[in-house]
Amino acid sequence: MIDMHIHTKYSDGTYSVKELLEKAEELSLECISITDHDNCKAYNEFENLKVEDYFSGKLVQGIELKCLYKGRLIEILGYNYNKEKMEKWLGEFYKNRQRKDTQKKYFNILYDACIKMGLEMAPKESIIWNPENDWASVTVYKELKSHEENKEMIPEDFWNDFTTFTKKYCADMNGPFYIDKSNDYPSLSEAINAVKKSDGIAIVAHAFIYKWAEDKKSFIKDLHENYDIDGFECYHSSFSNEQIDYIVNYCKDNNLLMSGGSDCHGDNKPGINLAVGKGNLRIDKKIVQTWINI
Ligand SMILES: [Zn+2]
Repeated sequence: MIDMHIHTKYSDGTYSVKELLEKAEELSLECISITDHDNCKAYNEFENLKVEDYFSGKLVQGIELKCLYKGRLIEILGYNYNKEKMEKWLGEFYKNRQRKDTQKKYFNILYDACIKMGLEMAPKESIIWNPENDWASVTVYKELKSHEENKEMIPEDFWNDFTTFTKKYCADMNGPFYIDKSNDYPSLSEAINAVKKSDGIAIVAHAFIYKWAEDKKSFIKDLHENYDIDGFECYHSSFSNEQIDYIVNYCKDNNLLMSGGSDCHGDNKPGINLAVGKGNLRIDKKIVQTWINI
């Protein structure tokens, strides 16, 4: 069993690197990858820490890059890249785009949209969050959900599910929550290029979660045919069996690489556990053996 998509404290997960390795060992995982958002800081720990002391499986260097596809954010997973080259690119790209500034800007836009809609919200200054690590969208969503009276003011799916809020309502270009992020993140081509120039491989993360993409099959086809990707994440905690079958077959038919992971964030996403996801995810190492030697 493997898990190629995991977040640690270096982005929005709760596990430390050591804790994660220990948990992976407990589950006897054969291969894992730490794929924090837009940074590879977790891997700096291995300058002082030996993976083998904690985990007997294989650790593949990973990262999850946010990037813009036709005006909306999607994610690309980069694997087996050269860390120095990747860090250099990240440093240059994000030099004048500090995460905390971007998130603060988004917080203000989302918060103001809520007020405009007449939603009940605590005063802006009283909301405690850390723009270095927290997401503005999560913070605003939590705040609006903490007022039961807001429930009647918004659609049911908006109230019930955070992913629907971000991937549908925030992605609606004509809606109040849409934010033009084109100056804050690389384009899809730039992100793919960054991975390739760092000698890594670029895999599209969780293609089925983007609720704004009404026709997922043409979305997948477009990514494959018009961008220089190497493959798709074929297993993910959110995928149905039909979705898995579809994308596995798509990769096989088109000679694309496959990957899969839980997208575990530790206690920040309590229902999604390491390797097993919502409980029944079991990813066989066979799917990655074409590009990882295990
Ligand atoms: Zn992720």
